[in-house]
Amino acid sequence: MFTGKVAVVTGSTSGIGLGIATALAQQGADIVLNGFGDAQEIERIRSTLEAEFGVRVAHDGADLSRGESVREMIAHAVSRMGRIDILVNNAGIQHTASIEEFPVEKWDAILALNLSAVFHATAAALPHMKQQGSGRIINIASVHGLVASVNKSAYVAAKHGVVGFTKATALETAGTGITANAICPGWVRTALVEQQITALAQRKETDQESAARALLAEKQPSLQFVTPEQIGAMVVFLASDAAAQMTGTALPVDGGWTAR
Ligand code: NAD
Repeated sequence: MFTGKVAVVTGSTSGIGLGIATALAQQGADIVLNGFGDAQEIERIRSTLEAEFGVRVAHDGADLSRGESVREMIAHAVSRMGRIDILVNNAGIQHTASIEEFPVEKWDAILALNLSAVFHATAAALPHMKQQGSGRIINIASVHGLVASVNKSAYVAAKHGVVGFTKATALETAGTGITANAICPGWVRTALVEQQITALAQRKETDQESAARALLAEKQPSLQFVTPEQIGAMVVFLASDAAAQMTGTALPVDGGWTAR
């Protein structure tokens, strides 16, 4: 579906981002991966995607908590790959603490990566997409872009910000061939969530799997984790022609979390 198109997926060396990059490569898109990790493991991911799907895959290790680096990453992607058709703003981090105890540096880091990086990447990509007369911006927000939970103030504020920024992007690009949408996943069992399961297991003095079930039972009525593949499939849909008139939306993929 996306042969000849170029997708930049931030935070795609693991978890949801890797699921999204894989789904887009499967549809023929050339990919710019971004994110941290072991250099050999990243090279294995890069070369496997290239070999499996016959597309070009590059990796940019930019630290997206710095606005300048975000803008440089987009500029490099365009000079390296020739264009940018799909931008998936996915990189994100979490920290849990009450508002009174929330470390200021963690607040700043979460806002910088989870919200400001979305602004910088969008601002850098839009001139290219406008010139092309088409583009897809897909922001991975969260159910926490729609509702709150205790001890996640920075994350909730950033993700609500992402949903608002997505709407602003949609209005500024309406009718240009560019769309902007947010996906709002519930629990997906990635490294980001595994550490919360471990913390819960320690608190409840129970094993990892019992804690995982307890985590789901508290918020996600389906009692099943969303998978990175399911988020990847949603991104493919939003990037397709079928979604050309969908813009400014925030779509929950959350096993019923926000239904109650
Ligand atoms: P993850 O920890 O598995 O992956 C995060 C990715 O971001 C990794 O590739 C990591 O290297 C990269 N990254 C971290 N800091 C970075 C930085 N400064 N610059 C560039 N890259 C950086 O997490 P995940 O669960 O796959 O989360 C991906 C996105 O999905 C995040 O925005 C997260 O908030 C969102 N999300 C996750 C869940 C969930 O349950 N896992 C639910 C809703 C939303």
